[in-house]
Amino acid sequence: LWAQARPELESLVGANNYVTWLAPLSLRAIEGGAADIACPTRFLSDWVSRHYARPIIDALTAQGAAVERVTFTVAAAPAAAAPAGPAAAGARPAAPARPRPAPREDELSAPIDTRFTFDNFIVGKPNELAHAAARRVAEGGFVTFNPLFLYGGVGLGKTHLMHAIASERRSRDPDARVLYLSAEQFMYRFVQALRERTVMDFKELFRTVDLLMVDDVQFIAGKDSTQEEFFHTFNALVDQGKQIVISADRAPGEIKDLEDRIKSRLSCGLIVDLHPTDYELRLSILQSKTDLFRATYPGLQMGQGVLEFLAHRITSNVRVLEGALQRLFAFASLMGREIDLDMTQECLTDILRASDRKVSVEEIQRKVAEHYNIRLSDLVGPKRVRTLARPRQIAMYLAKQMTSRSLPEIGRRFGGRDHTTIMHGVRKIEELCAADNSLAEDVQLLRRALEA
Ligand code: ADP
Ligand code: MG
Repeated sequence: LWAQARPELESLVGANNYVTWLAPLSLRAIEGGAADIACPTRFLSDWVSRHYARPIIDALTAQGAAVERVTFTVAAAPAAAAPAGPAAAGARPAAPARPRPAPREDELSAPIDTRFTFDNFIVGKPNELAHAAARRVAEGGFVTFNPLFLYGGVGLGKTHLMHAIASERRSRDPDARVLYLSAEQFMYRFVQALRERTVMDFKELFRTVDLLMVDDVQFIAGKDSTQEEFFHTFNALVDQGKQIVISADRAPGEIKDLEDRIKSRLSCGLIVDLHPTDYELRLSILQSKTDLFRATYPGLQMGQGVLEFLAHRITSNVRVLEGALQRLFAFASLMGREIDLDMTQECLTDILRASDRKVSVEEIQRKVAEHYNIRLSDLVGPKRVRTLARPRQIAMYLAKQMTSRSLPEIGRRFGGRDHTTIMHGVRKIEELCAADNSLAEDVQLLRRALEA
């Protein structure tokens, strides 16, 4: 029902508001005229009940539900906004039964999102190689490495780079046949062609392309006939000296259920990985996105401290960073408030909490012990010698900064120490960092290593 009400709701509140406020919600139950909505945070539920109760009631009523009130339960929503996974392919409408003319290549390609350009791709250490290789491919001309294999975790810019390549290549050479597909789309098109008995045309089509890009290729692993077709298409293009760009979430050799011959073909060009973002890169991305948001929300104030806070705390991926900024700006403009740290923490509790889970106190302890070349058991143990005490305090400090554990909880993980001991350690390091540059750098270094 919730899914059915969604289009109505979206049109009632507008797509932007929908994404910012309502997408994280889901319907738990309707009982006695009340729709109970699951909402990931208290903050969000307050906001939504104040501003969007009416549209929710109207949208549900339009679906024939008897709803007069909305209640909220703070609970994690199911992964409703998850990107199209393999399941999505099955959910697509069935292809028409009748054979039809084979599609042209622009129909075959997924649409290119022209917002993803090289100009707005921020380059830093973790992605500079990938960026340079993508630029080279976009220039066209002599094919130097084939395929270009881009891999890295979610939200690090693989799809962005591929769209940028497509736009750039098309603008340089409008006649070039540039094809961009997700692996699922590739698979789906192939299955469709099989069903419509246009396989021959299908093969021809791919084989006359100048630049083929297949995104998230890990999804064809285990799909045997698709793999087979992919392999033939791939070989035909490479033999003709046509450029191929592939992305995946991991290196070719690490993709399970992928045939060895495909792995080795994929590995014979240039393999570049996008590393997890570092603090500097996150900060420059935030800065550039903030400039964009400022144009949309003129007059909004946001301190540099907020950007630094976000760059420190949201380390998972760039998409999450963007979403956080968007929510902040929307919230600030609606409330007519300046974006400060307080508001940021309030508005983003759910995101901050989710990214906290990344680092555990144990990981911090391990890293610190390793860094200072001491035993983990000594780090958390009772000995008070200075060579142990200082690293121990640094670990306490990082645990307080980087996790959402309370002082007593941290104390328990440090051999059952009292929360005042932890607090003392945290304060000590704060003081020392202010006074001692080399210690501050050390702490910064550890923090980044932990975030990476
Ligand atoms: P992936 O395909 O690797 O999962 P995406 O390319 O979809 O990641 O990137 C997720 C979001 O983050 C996109 O909105 C993209 O524009 C943005 N993004 C990622 N890296 C950068 C970057 N270096 N500069 C600017 N935006 C970036
Ligand atoms: Mg992607």
